[in-house]
Amino acid sequence: MSAKIAIIGSGPSGFYAADTFAKKLPGCQIDIIDRLHTPFGLVRAGVAPDHQGTKNVTRQFERTMQNDDVRFVGNVEIGRDVSYEELKDLYDIVFLAIGASLDRKLGIAGEDLKGVYGSAEFVGWYNGHPDFVDLAPKLGPKGVAIIGNGNVAIDIVRVLAKSMEEMEGSDLCVHAEDRIRATNITDFYMIGRRGAAQAAFTPSEANELGHLAHCHPVILNDDLTEVPENDDPKSLKNKEKNLEILKGLKDQDRGDKDKTLHMQFWAKPIAILGDDQVEGLKLERTELKDGRVTGTGKTFEIEVSSVISAIGYATQPFDGLPMDGTIVRNKEGAVEAGVYVSGWAKHGPQGTIPTNRKESMEMAKRAIDEFAGPSDKQGPSGLDQLLSERSVETVDFDNWKRIEQQEEHAAREGRVREKIVTF
Ligand SMILES: Cc1cc2nc3c(=O)[nH]c(=O)nc-3n(C[C@H](O)[C@H](O)[C@H](O)COP(=O)(O)OP(=O)(O)OC[C@H]3O[C@@H](n4cnc5c(N)ncnc54)[C@H](O)[C@@H]3O)c2cc1C
Repeated sequence: MSAKIAIIGSGPSGFYAADTFAKKLPGCQIDIIDRLHTPFGLVRAGVAPDHQGTKNVTRQFERTMQNDDVRFVGNVEIGRDVSYEELKDLYDIVFLAIGASLDRKLGIAGEDLKGVYGSAEFVGWYNGHPDFVDLAPKLGPKGVAIIGNGNVAIDIVRVLAKSMEEMEGSDLCVHAEDRIRATNITDFYMIGRRGAAQAAFTPSEANELGHLAHCHPVILNDDLTEVPENDDPKSLKNKEKNLEILKGLKDQDRGDKDKTLHMQFWAKPIAILGDDQVEGLKLERTELKDGRVTGTGKTFEIEVSSVISAIGYATQPFDGLPMDGTIVRNKEGAVEAGVYVSGWAKHGPQGTIPTNRKESMEMAKRAIDEFAGPSDKQGPSGLDQLLSERSVETVDFDNWKRIEQQEEHAAREGRVREKIVTF
């Protein structure tokens, strides 16, 4: 039974689905289409440059690409080069794995000042995402506030607070390295609306904060005695571990560390201060009332030159794509006949690479179960014709492997690759 399948997005959700389709439907034709020249979505452009172990998941994706039924079609954007309607006409199954790449707004005064960044653009900048290489963020002379209490916030703190020697073995881009090296930020503020017992970061990321060579974490406004609650036993365990780790951090001796991470719990930003560029952040103390976080009316200010919000992402829609707020409209992953969605585009920006694996495999199996049977749709050959008529130059997986080789070849000493960031 030869199905023609288009997977939009080459992040983890796309690749795990491709693997399932290829294994369960031998002889089908699978196109993994991505708007970028390079595959792997947030594994390349989100996962922190000093977490190379995590990035190595791409080896699994490479094995999927060894299957002759699977193609990578890079530099093709749905909504720009090919429309959603055309896609549905060409393929039996359309599997949307487009992630969530837009920054959610803080919605407070001063958000348009120079020096305010969303984490998608900031992380994209240091990770060499072509959309953000020219960001040139303003860093220093004063501190930087990072809004959010998740793993992304911790990643940003680490990348900014580590010395370049501590980035040994990473793939931090040279443009980011130069800029970070040229600043000497001594104060990092991580702001959470809730307490340590509710923080979303995971124990392994929290633990890394205790191992920074030059930055000492200080826990503010939380005595770490609140007992975590959670219906999900795994999350509860993580939260209990988090508290243990934070207690350890609290007892740590500063030694001669000259940088400070101020972990401000129970505080929400209410205004970014400054005339043209960021000069400070105004915050309000918060508390829980009937299970909801509310402001107490007590405010305070911190002096910072930059504000980075790491409070979540929204899916970037294209014409015709049904949306439900910030995600693709779906019923347990089904969008419409023959169209499915998985990963961050399905449920928003929660879940790690392993979570996406399970979910995408299940979604792909469902798509197979519901596949009506062979059709006269054109599939890959129809796509090629359309792209050729529109003079779109695509990138296949062999092209990507050549790009990768060049990147590895160009690596500076102590770095694993020098990413090519413009194409
Ligand atoms: C900063 C950061 C750090 C993270 N660190 C970790 C970590 O250490 N460990 C971990 O397990 N998880 C981590 N995650 C989470 C992990 O990256 C996500 O769970 C995962 O990448 C989501 O996969 P996805 O396939 O749904 O989306 P993505 O990985 O975002 O992939 C979406 C793909 O779709 C493409 N696309 C979008 N729109 C179109 C279009 N119109 N046409 C064609 N292509 C399109 C994009 O270019 C992209 O390649 C991190 C996330 C972030 C943001």
